[in-house]
Parts: sequence; C-alpha cells; structure tokens
Amino acid sequence: MKIMKFGGTSVGRPERMHQVSQLITAGDESKIVVLSALSGTTNALVQISDALAASNRAEAKQLIDKLEAHYHAFIGDLASTEASLQAAKAIVTEHFEFLNIILRISFSEALNKDILAQGELLSTKLFSVYLSEKGVKHVLLPALEFMTIDGYDEPQIGAIRVKLSQLLSTHADDKLFITQGYICRNARGEVDNLKRGGSDYSASLIAAAINASVCEIWTDIDGMHNNDPRICKTVPVEQLSFEEAAELAYFGAKILHPASIWPAQHYKIPVKLLNTMEPAAKGTIIVEEAGSTGVKAVAAKDGIISINIRSSRMLLAYGFLRKIFEVFEKYRTSIDMVTTSEVAVSVTIDTAVNLKEIIRELEPFGTITVEENFTIVSVVGNEIAETKEFLLKLFESIKEIPVRMVSYGGSRHNVSLLVNSTDKTTTLQALNKGLFGL
Ligand code: ADP
Ligand code: ASP
Ligand code: MG
Repeated sequence: MKIMKFGGTSVGRPERMHQVSQLITAGDESKIVVLSALSGTTNALVQISDALAASNRAEAKQLIDKLEAHYHAFIGDLASTEASLQAAKAIVTEHFEFLNIILRISFSEALNKDILAQGELLSTKLFSVYLSEKGVKHVLLPALEFMTIDGYDEPQIGAIRVKLSQLLSTHADDKLFITQGYICRNARGEVDNLKRGGSDYSASLIAAAINASVCEIWTDIDGMHNNDPRICKTVPVEQLSFEEAAELAYFGAKILHPASIWPAQHYKIPVKLLNTMEPAAKGTIIVEEAGSTGVKAVAAKDGIISINIRSSRMLLAYGFLRKIFEVFEKYRTSIDMVTTSEVAVSVTIDTAVNLKEIIRELEPFGTITVEENFTIVSVVGNEIAETKEFLLKLFESIKEIPVRMVSYGGSRHNVSLLVNSTDKTTTLQALNKGLFGL
C-alpha cells in the first residue's frame, strides 16, 4: 500500500482535483490519499479565528461569508451533474453553518482548533463527491478517528497503527482511501492539528503506521530544490538521505513540515517529493543513502531569538550548562544553536512563547541579553564537514555578511550560520553563487 499526499495548490482548483483523481487511479497498488485544505483556506480560517479571539465578530462574519462564496464558486466548477452539485452544496452548507454557529459561542483554544479543522474536512468531502461522480470507488477515512497526539502534542504512532489497521480491516475489499492531513485528536479527545503544513507529517505518520511501500508528497514544485526557489534561481536535488532531508525540513525548507521526516526515517519508508503539475518530472527521492557526498541544499529558518548568558564566575564550573539547559527543558523550548566561550554561552530558540519565564529563570546565572530577528541559514549535504575546501568556499562566498554564530561539527552534514534576518536574502544568494554557481 502506498501513501499519496496532495498539498493545498494540488487541490486548490477544480481542474487540479481532476489531475489528482487521474494520479490516484493509476496503477494497481492500494492507496491512502492524504489531502490538505484548498490553498488559502487555512490562512482564511486563521484570520477568522483571530478575529473571533479579538471579539471582532463583524470582521469574522465577513471573512466567513467571503470564504463561503469561494467554496460555492469552487463546487460550481467541480460538479458536472446536478446530483453531485447538490451533494457538494450540502457539505459546504454544513461546514459554513458550523462556522456561523461558532460566531455565537465564546472563543476558546478548543474552538480555534475546530475552526482550523474545517479546511481539510471540506477538501476531502468535496473530493469524495467528485470521485463518486466520476465513478471512482473509494472510502473516506476520518482522520479524527485514528490520528492522535499525546499530552505533549507528540503523535502516538502505536495507537495510530492500531486504530488505522482496525479501520482498514473493515474495508478489506477496498483499494482507495481518502483522508484528511493536518487534523488529529489530542489527549483530551478534542480536535487538534499537527501545526501549519502538518499534512506532510500526517502522510509520513500514516506511511509509518501501515508500513507503506512509499510516501509520496505531491506539491507544486518538482522536488526539494538546492535553495529557496522564492529567493534564488534553483535546481531540484535528485536524492537525499533521511538525515539530509530532516535537516532541510527542520531548518526551513517549506516544502516539508519540520517533523515530517522522522516517522518515514524510523520505519525506513522511502519518501518521494513530486510535482502534481508535472507528474513526469523526476522530483526528489529520500532514502537511507544520500546518493553522493558534498553540498546538496541550503535552507533558512526565520524568527530566531538569540539568548546570551554572560558570567565570569560560574561558566566554567561543571554543571553550569546543565542548569541552563534545564530551564529550556522545563519550558519545552528546543535550542537550535549553541556556542560557548570562557565567559559566555549563547543559544538560539525559535519561539517567544515562554521567553519571559525563561529569561526570569536564567537571570540568577549571569547577565542575560536577548536579541530577536535572526535567521538560521543551514547548509546541508552528506559529509560536508569532511569535504575538502568546503569551509573555505562557504566563508569566501559570505565574506561581506556579518555572521553572528556558526555551528559546525554537530552533525557531519550540516553547517549552520546565524545572520540578521535583514541579511537573509543576500546570504542565500551569495551561497547560491559560491556553492552552486547559480
Ligand atoms: P503544499 O501546499 O503542497 O504543502 P507548500 O507551499 O507547503 O506546498 O510547499 C511547497 C513550496 O515550498 C514551493 O512552492 C516552494 O515555494 C517552497 N520551498 C521553499 N524551499 C524549498 C526548497 N528548498 N525546495 C522546494 N520548494 C521549496
Ligand atoms: N492546511 C494546513 C496548512 O495550511 C496543513 C497543510 O497544508 O499541510 O497549514
Ligand atoms: Mg506544505
């Protein structure tokens, strides 16, 4: 059985759904198809939720009406029979009635998650109507019945496996399943999600849970490129190891959700990144082996905060770093980069959620300086740390750019630089030229 995940742009227009239906009906292998919301929908739902959180009901209502009009136009083009148009209308009405009811309920975090879940529920149900109209036999699998996260928001792969195989066993004769990406249930049994871009993560988790032959991520570009295609002239990378792909995803390559590689890696499921608009393109294959050594790609992660702890008294004392790291652990905040000197230690984090508390608890250790608006630029490639002259080339290409921190040696296939976010574009372009000649 294989997994095929289609992102927002792949289902964002009726003619794209047509393309998707052709892709998923080719070949004999059974498939679980994971869909995102139509492109733009989750952003709109976030806006609706934000308006409600700010008690701005009039604005929320306007946004809901605008989104509903978009869906009515969408189904008008999607359905070609009166029966399927009516079925699609009933679905749109049901979900927008729900959003309108929510306008009258007082806002809560649980309600926010309910709002955000509407996109994937709509896209899968509408796609199901479309498939039925075309006579394509399929089963709609509700993700909320098998995709669960624990009290720390971590997916429960064991439980997902048990529930999913139970569900699949009740459809032993079926070969095509459609399910929602992104959405799940949390430890309290409420509707929740796997964070923005989470449908990739859903796909990889499902692939791991059913031991799929392959996890295909279909998107709007022909695979992982060597740099951010929105900023540089780029080319696709044919093969990546799980470790290289995981680093690129974690350090900002938007094509993959930051956590989406580990389930596939752990369960050794190959991942393919493919282009819905150009299905014949090679794309990228992600497997155990890197294919070749040397620099593969550069990625950038914004919104980085640097925290410097300076202490002439204690820094060299053993146990000092442990005490500092324990503060971050307590607030479940992961550290991306670390550098130490005799009198100071600097770390970077990517969220300000618990920043105030973290600083308060660090203060007894020394003088704390916090600076925001940094970007981590990561250069990734199999064994680059051992590649001759690599560092020379790297620093030669960015010699004009002030670098605040460097992480080298933490892994054999990643060198990370901390730069001001205002220097991000120049850094990516300079590396593109210096490392790839592009
Ligand atoms: P989907 O909706 O299919 O999940 P995303 O928008 O999340 O698609 O991811 C695909 C986009 O990621 C591409 O259109 C591209 O602009 C962006 N992107 C950023 N970095 C990279 C990269 N290194 N390689 C390929 N795409 C990238
Ligand atoms: N629809 C969700 C989002 O926009 C999940 C995804 O697209 O992967 O974040
Ligand atoms: Mg995405």
